[in-house]
Amino acid sequence: MKTCIIVVAAVSCACLASGQSEHSSQSGPPSELPPVAHFNPEIADKTLDPCADFYKYSCSKWSAANPLPADEVAWGTAGPVSKWNQVILGQTLDKLSANDSSRSPSEQKIGDFYHSCMDEKTIESHSQEWLQKELDVIDGIKSVSDLAVVVAHLHQTIPQAWAFGDNQTSSPLFGFAGSPDYDDASHNIAQFDQGGMSLPSRSYYLDQDDKSKEIRAIYLKHLAKMFALAGEQPEQARNDADMVLAIETSLAEVAMDAISRRDPKNLNNKMSLAQVKALAPSFDFERYLALVKAPSSPHYIVTSPKFFKGVEQMLHRYSIPQWKAYFRWQMINGSASALNHVMVEESFDFVGKTLFGAKEIQARWRRCVNSSDFMLGDALGQAYVARAFPPENKQRALALVQDLTNALGKDIDSLDWMSAETKKQAQEKKAATLDKIGYPDKWRDYSGVKIGRDNYLANRQQAIGFEFERWVAKIGQPVDRGEWTMTPPTFNAYEDPPTNTINFPAGMLQPPEFEMSQDDSVNYGAIGAVIGHEIIHGFDDQGRKFDAQGNLRDWWTASDAQAYDSRDKCIADQYTQEVPEAGPGVKQDGRMTLGEDTADNGGIYLALTALQESLARQGRDMDSKEADGLTPRQRFFLAYAFGWCTEYRPELIRLVVLSDPHSYPKYRVNNTVANMPEFAKAFGCHKGQPEVRVNACRVW
Ligand SMILES: [Zn+2]
Repeated sequence: MKTCIIVVAAVSCACLASGQSEHSSQSGPPSELPPVAHFNPEIADKTLDPCADFYKYSCSKWSAANPLPADEVAWGTAGPVSKWNQVILGQTLDKLSANDSSRSPSEQKIGDFYHSCMDEKTIESHSQEWLQKELDVIDGIKSVSDLAVVVAHLHQTIPQAWAFGDNQTSSPLFGFAGSPDYDDASHNIAQFDQGGMSLPSRSYYLDQDDKSKEIRAIYLKHLAKMFALAGEQPEQARNDADMVLAIETSLAEVAMDAISRRDPKNLNNKMSLAQVKALAPSFDFERYLALVKAPSSPHYIVTSPKFFKGVEQMLHRYSIPQWKAYFRWQMINGSASALNHVMVEESFDFVGKTLFGAKEIQARWRRCVNSSDFMLGDALGQAYVARAFPPENKQRALALVQDLTNALGKDIDSLDWMSAETKKQAQEKKAATLDKIGYPDKWRDYSGVKIGRDNYLANRQQAIGFEFERWVAKIGQPVDRGEWTMTPPTFNAYEDPPTNTINFPAGMLQPPEFEMSQDDSVNYGAIGAVIGHEIIHGFDDQGRKFDAQGNLRDWWTASDAQAYDSRDKCIADQYTQEVPEAGPGVKQDGRMTLGEDTADNGGIYLALTALQESLARQGRDMDSKEADGLTPRQRFFLAYAFGWCTEYRPELIRLVVLSDPHSYPKYRVNNTVANMPEFAKAFGCHKGQPEVRVNACRVW
């Protein structure tokens, strides 16, 4: 469980949609670094009224000048810096991909991994043979007990979300890993999670509106095409397609919905192995656990017992040949981005175009950079940090985080709705939070991963197997708070309740979020609000249920919890809204985005408080006009909005509204500032204007 700052779907799209085009250029990354977006006082469109639509006021000029590129599904002020990060990685990998004996062991691994990914000719000639061998394993199933063999093999062979995310649906049949015990976060125990679906969320299978039906019809065609490309006759391919959709829909029906999954109490179902087995007696859990070399666990967490009971029924309802079709698809789909160009193109056609709205596939070097980062992130991250994140930046970022943390301390003290008893516990939790800036103190050791120059599919299998084994081997071990689940070049940040950590990868501590040469009011408005966002996650509807040690423990008095819930409900109601950009009738459920929206609203307050303190130390006033014609308060809000300027493809907006806990950027800006009298003060907004909300919400 972790909560991050930006839409994960958009980030992972390049990875999901990765593939190669026949026409793609063989060339590597550019030799020059691309420009990044910088905040400047001229960004606002002064012909517009900031009190009517602050997002438009702050973003329309930039977005008009920076249209969505054909190979992107989202583009905003974060786009150029993500690309800048990617070019740095690409240049590094390009250099290390030469077969040079002076490379260190870890440089050899990332260099050869990238080389094998760029070697389209070899992939083209090996891909079908590799896939056939894998499909033969699945075709070897003879009994229901053998399904355990296939699930274990798939978990070791295709990439999945290793940490349990809120909407994780993608591991074949189910997810398995070592994760912190909810009741004793100092140790990891074995956890079984629901999974098995290939579309982005349950609702893609269950919703009955026209658009959902249309997407499922396209999915069926895509399934049949992929089966045919994998060597099936057309009739069998069509039958298998029907079966995959039927099985995945059955899984969606018994899976827990995203809103119920927001409450960790619903996930903390502690069982003995005998009880786990009793949920689905037909699935051979013993065999699965032996195959993935799972250490014995004092007990097991099953996040959704109903899901596993449903799997039991499905094991009776569907025949072995039908399960084979389902697992063949899991293998094909999970490997598609690394197979030959026809598979890659068909996969991009559905995942990239239909689900995400992409127009063009990304250049191969970009996809190979993403794959290297995803598979061997710590090895590549070291090179990135050396080039893009000097020690003085780390020091400055750390000071900012400390400023924001101090602001939280003041905020807690000042709350009129919280008792002294609960405040004391909240302060303890604040004091125990570990701030992690830029990159891990200890880099992961990849010495067990064998990477050669010629076989991308084999390299991938090595890296995936290593990572899966690493997660399973955590079972029974102490929790390592120093570990990261994002790589250093990632443009994102996250908070993790069980470890009580906030984590800011170096990839996000870059312009326009963080820039050493900018005024404090800009840095506090941009990265300051992001830091505040992550801090508040520890105190949102999920985070507040974990204590200073990361245990799921109720440290609130009953009346304080009640006061919190009624304030949070204000936010949930505010964000339950039509999102016309996502298509007619598409509505956001504010209960699903509650944690993110609470973090946005609380985070900006912490940043504003910290800025006030900082300016007071410098003898400056928040509301005096300065040389650029802006007051620090105005600059703060403009920098906040500027960080969020982003256009999505309509398909991605729909995907986000239906399956992602983050609000669409326009609402992250407009709904948040409309709750703040401090914003109205900055721009002279008055009652009755859209950016001055009558029923303003405030939790933190
Ligand atoms: Zn977040």
